[in-house]
Order: sequence, then C-alpha cells, then structure tokens
Amino acid sequence: MPRIAAIVGGGVIGAGWAARFLLNGWDVRVFDPEPASRARVETIIDNARLALPGLGDVALPPEGTLTWCGRMSEAVKGAEWIQESVPERLELKQTLYRTLQEHAEEDAILASSTSGFTPTELQGVSNRPGQIIVAHPFNPVYLLPVVEIVASARNAPELVERACDTLKSIGMAPLRVRGEIPAHVADRLLEAVWREALWLVKDGIATTEEIDDVIRLGFGLRWAQMGLFETYRIAGGAGGMAQFLAQFGPALEWPWTKLMDVPKLDDALIGRIAEQSDAQSGHLSIEELERQRDRNLVGIMRALLARDWGAGRVQKALDATRAEALAIPLRLDEIGDLAQPVPTVERAVPLDWLDYNGHMTESRYLEVFGQATDQMMKLVGADEAYVAGGRSFFTVETHIRHLDEVGAGAPLSVVTRVLAGAGKRMHLWHELRSGERLLATGEHMLLHVDLATRKSSLPSDEVAEALGRIATAHAGLPPVEGAGRAVGQPL
Ligand code: NAD
Repeated sequence: MPRIAAIVGGGVIGAGWAARFLLNGWDVRVFDPEPASRARVETIIDNARLALPGLGDVALPPEGTLTWCGRMSEAVKGAEWIQESVPERLELKQTLYRTLQEHAEEDAILASSTSGFTPTELQGVSNRPGQIIVAHPFNPVYLLPVVEIVASARNAPELVERACDTLKSIGMAPLRVRGEIPAHVADRLLEAVWREALWLVKDGIATTEEIDDVIRLGFGLRWAQMGLFETYRIAGGAGGMAQFLAQFGPALEWPWTKLMDVPKLDDALIGRIAEQSDAQSGHLSIEELERQRDRNLVGIMRALLARDWGAGRVQKALDATRAEALAIPLRLDEIGDLAQPVPTVERAVPLDWLDYNGHMTESRYLEVFGQATDQMMKLVGADEAYVAGGRSFFTVETHIRHLDEVGAGAPLSVVTRVLAGAGKRMHLWHELRSGERLLATGEHMLLHVDLATRKSSLPSDEVAEALGRIATAHAGLPPVEGAGRAVGQPL
C-alpha cells in the first residue's frame, strides 16, 4: 500500500512537496481553496517529472496517485504526513491546525514549511501540539535535499526521528536545528547576505546583475560544494582554520558591514531594484527561468554525484538504497533464470542529457551501455576488488544502433546477453528500452587485461567460470537481430 501525504496549501512550496512525495511513490492529496492553484501544482509536478527521476543513477519507485481534494478533511484523513504550506501568517496557520487536527490521524506528522515561525509559536493553542513540527524546505523542494527540522520540548523525540527517517526516504537531508530561533539557520544566513546586497544597490556600488555575478561566478560555486567553513579552511592554508581566523579575524572588527542596519525599502529603492532586475532577467519568463534553474541544478548535482560530495553524497546514498529494491541482480546467484538476458540497468534520463534536438544525446546511449557493461563485469566477479587487484576488462569495439528517441525523466532499462565469453573475450549485447519501446542496441567486445602490463591476459578461473556459465546459458536464446552488423552502407 502506498503511503499517503496530504499537502495543505498548493503554492510554490506546497507544489514542490507534492511533486517530491508523488515521484517517490507516495499517494498525494492536495487541498488549496484557490482554484488557480491546481494548474500551478500540475505545472510544477510536470517540471519535477523532467528533473527528479534522472537526478540519480537508479530508478525511482513507481509514481503514486495525485488526488485533488475539495475539503481539507478529505485530504488529511488517513494521511501519514501532512505538510502545511499556506501563507506565512501565524494566526492563519494556528486556526488551520485546529480544524485540520479534528480530522487528522493522531499519530500523523503535521509539518509546517514556515520560513520564520518556531514550533512553539505554531503549536500555540493546539490540543495536540506534540504532532506539529517545522520542516522548512528550499525551492525547488523536489530537487534541493536540505530540510530544516525544528522541534519544541512538546515534540516526542521518536516523532522527530520518524520525521527525519521519512524525509530521508524521499531523498532529503534533514538538518536537526538545535534550538528554536526565528528563521531557523539558513534564512538567517541568507538574510545577512540579502541585507548587504540591498545596501550595495541602494548606495549605487553594484547593480542586481553585478551582485548576482559576484555570487554565481565566484563564491557561490565554492558554497555549492564546500559551504563556508570548509572553504575558509582551505584559505587558511596548512594552518587550517586557526590560521585563517588569526589572519582574517581582525577584519571583522573593521566597519565593512551594514548588517545591523536595514535600508529603507522606499519607492525609490524598490523602483531601482525592480528596474535593474528587469534589465537583467526581464527577457525571460518565470517559467523559462525555472526550467533553466532546474537544468543547472541537475547538472551541478550530478557532477557532485560523480564526486560523491555534498549534495551528490546524499544522492549516492539514496541510489544505493534504491538499487536494493530493484530487480537488478547484484550477484550471479541472484539471477532468477540464467537462460534469459540479465537486467543490468534501471534508471531515468537526466535533464542534462538532452541535446539541441530535445532528446537524449548520442553519447549518453554509450554511457547507459557503459553502466550495463560495468554491471555485467560485477556479476561475473570482475568487481572493484578484482580491479584493485590489478585485473580488468577493457572495451575494444562498440557498435550502437539508435532506433528511437527519448526525453528527460523517461524510464530507461537495459537487458544484457553474453554472446560469447571464453578466453580473454567478453562479447556483450545490450538492449535499451523505455517501457516497451526498444531505443537502441549496443554490441561491445571487451578484452581481459592485466593492469600492470596493460596487455590482454586470461581472467581468473572464477571470472572465467562465471562468464562461461552465462554464455552457455544464453547460447540457447534465439539469435539477436542486428548482432555483428557494420554501419551497412557501401563506401
Ligand atoms: P504561496 O503564496 O505561493 O502559496 C500559498 C498557498 O496557500 C496559496 O496557493 C494559497 O491559495 C494557499 N492557501 C491560502 N490559505 C489556505 C488555506 N486556508 N488552506 C489551504 N491553502 C491555503 O506561498 P509559498 O511561497 O508556497 O509559501 C508557503 C509557506 O512555505 C510559507 O510558510 C513560507 O514561509 C514557506 N516557505 C516559502 C519558501 C519560498 O521560497 N517561497 C521557501 C521555504 C518555505
């Protein structure tokens, strides 16, 4: 039975939550009294369908069911998780909880997306304050992993732990905030930068575009992968953080900052900022900016995945958990029927794999087949330990037939046949599908090598035996159409 999440408030944040739960296999019920919110939620879920499934290298569970509810009671009844994302007004949230809790399950988690209120403020007049916590996400909620979890003394530790586990299971990285302060941690930091930026525009020192450039061309790139303290540690050189503080600490006493003061947001300043922002980004619609943001985020996060670092480390751990739930055999004795092609890949097309034709670009077909080949190597025992021991397989020839196209977020699966596996040779045949559609075939010849001499060599007896077993079993399959083909045009 899919788990049920209720989303109360379908604005930009509620829609992002709806997408994250839905694409992670939960059934999602949305309640928002504003009729226009439905189209907006659906657009945001469509954007998420392009970006989230391909964020990792492993397929997501099947999507849950989205239900639009006319009443809040309908949405929250039976839900395990209730995410409140209504406008940031304390009284509105408190009043809403009173009605909501009349219909919600007593053990449901009622999490607020609030950017600024503390759990104690939100719990205020509630009869069941213990089920209300803060789960503060970042936009776009379906892509960014961090979520600030804030609890009060009235929340049982087990409930908070359950909340963190639930959020991890949908790919998030909960940060347990150690105390209740207005605006939690992240928005406190952001507000410091925001105030400085407003002063810089007001004083005519820099435009909105120049401030954005100084972030995205400079320290923003560092922040995205090492944050603040780790970056400064490097700046301290061999002496590390202590040296950095000794060197740059005194500058904190200089009157650089205007942090204690806020520029008055009068008509002149608002007009200047709006004008500069229009000049900077007015040629793009908000929808175009959102799509561009998602493409960039997926590219950055997938680069970090390859490096197992920062947000990529969160994704890598999640991929490992998800891989266990798939039908891909991880060891030879897990292959159900040895005489059938072996499932080797289940994933989706990442958003940054598209080309100017709007479909998965040709080099990524080889990347997927490379993933399938790596999986076959592991299955026959040529795994990481084997390679670390000085032996491996190298691909010496590849022939790919591109038969159909595929777009971002679409599911991809590969099954693999061993056409021959004896001596130094491993001859593989991969078939790539999206659902039932055959997208491509890949024929690959690999040679076993000694990594010290970089010359071909015989595999270990165990690898030779495993490969031989699969090859013999696959020899009984009907011949594959297209194997052994060349490009096929006379020169
Ligand atoms: P929003 O204005 O885009 O959306 C609020 C939605 O709530 C609207 O669709 C509105 O129709 C609906 N709503 C109003 N009253 C309601 C009610 N009684 N029942 C159900 N729905 C109701 O706002 P948002 O930006 O999505 O912010 C929502 C919450 O998330 C706020 O608490 C905000 O602080 C927090 N938050 C916002 C961001 C952000 O970047 N926008 C980031 C993190 C957290």
